[in-house]
Amino acid sequence: MAAPVLFHHPSSLEHDPGPHPERPARITAIETALAARDWLGFERRESPEATRAQLEAVHPARHINGIQELCAAGGGMIDQDTVVSEGSWGAALHSAGGAAAMVDALLGDGGVRVGASVHRPPGHHAEVGRAMGFCLFNNVAVAARRARDEHGVGRVLVLDWDVHHGNGTQDVFYDSDEVLFCSIHEWPLYPGTGAEGETGTGPGEGFTINMPVPSGTGDDGFCSLVEHVVAPAARAYGPGLILVSAGYDAHHDDPLASCRVTDGGYATMATSVRALADGLGVPVGIVLEGGYELGALARGFTATLEVAGGPGPFGAPSVEEHPLATAALERLRAGSPLLG
Ligand SMILES: [Zn+2]
Repeated sequence: MAAPVLFHHPSSLEHDPGPHPERPARITAIETALAARDWLGFERRESPEATRAQLEAVHPARHINGIQELCAAGGGMIDQDTVVSEGSWGAALHSAGGAAAMVDALLGDGGVRVGASVHRPPGHHAEVGRAMGFCLFNNVAVAARRARDEHGVGRVLVLDWDVHHGNGTQDVFYDSDEVLFCSIHEWPLYPGTGAEGETGTGPGEGFTINMPVPSGTGDDGFCSLVEHVVAPAARAYGPGLILVSAGYDAHHDDPLASCRVTDGGYATMATSVRALADGLGVPVGIVLEGGYELGALARGFTATLEVAGGPGPFGAPSVEEHPLATAALERLRAGSPLLG
């Protein structure tokens, strides 16, 4: 197996929102931790900028131009949470471009099976026509569309374990079966979307699986939802690529939410994902989203890459079925095209 690859770019440090939890030190913390572990065997590559066509596969030109113009004018506020500086434009282009280049590495003929895209700003709150929630372009959506447009992969699983609902990714793929979007998120919490009943529309009906969890949910809930709900749904779906919107703000130390996932919980979820990918014979790409306590972020991300990029092959982890998973399975069996 070819070495796993990690895409990054120094422009991630140039996106300056001022005093803000989504700050450059997040990248420094992750990279310092990975460097201390010799990058866990990942081959590092410098991310290219996303091309205009890659961005326009997800966002309309007016959205892209609006961000470009605001950055060129020196920056400013898009909403109360989402602030850009002059350097945000380059950072955002490389953040989306890194995710797309990761997909090229995973689906090209180099034999790479595991990739990571480590950038900021994050992307999963960015809707088709709207930047919000610290996110400018939807990096994981750009990656999924790249899989389809450049590599002919018509089915992609996106697992979003960031503690916030990935409203942007849901928005991009809500009416399509080209992505099976599975999100585990604290509820109620920002941005307020992601109810169980939001399951997709038209040809996308049943291809959005929202798993809201109450405040205080820890490893037992998160890991069981991945192993007992996401994994079987994904096996029924049969994706050609697995992408993870990997946020670390469900960690018990994170200041922005109140779930209680541990470093070990992220390792267990990564084990489920890697076992799923090995079983399906498809590659895995990890795309960084949120996570605002620097130590928890660095440890959680390192734990994820240590498992995801490990030599394998991996079997499914031993996880007890949690009542949240039992309830989600009952809902899906009642109406899902995948588990019905
Ligand atoms: Zn988040």
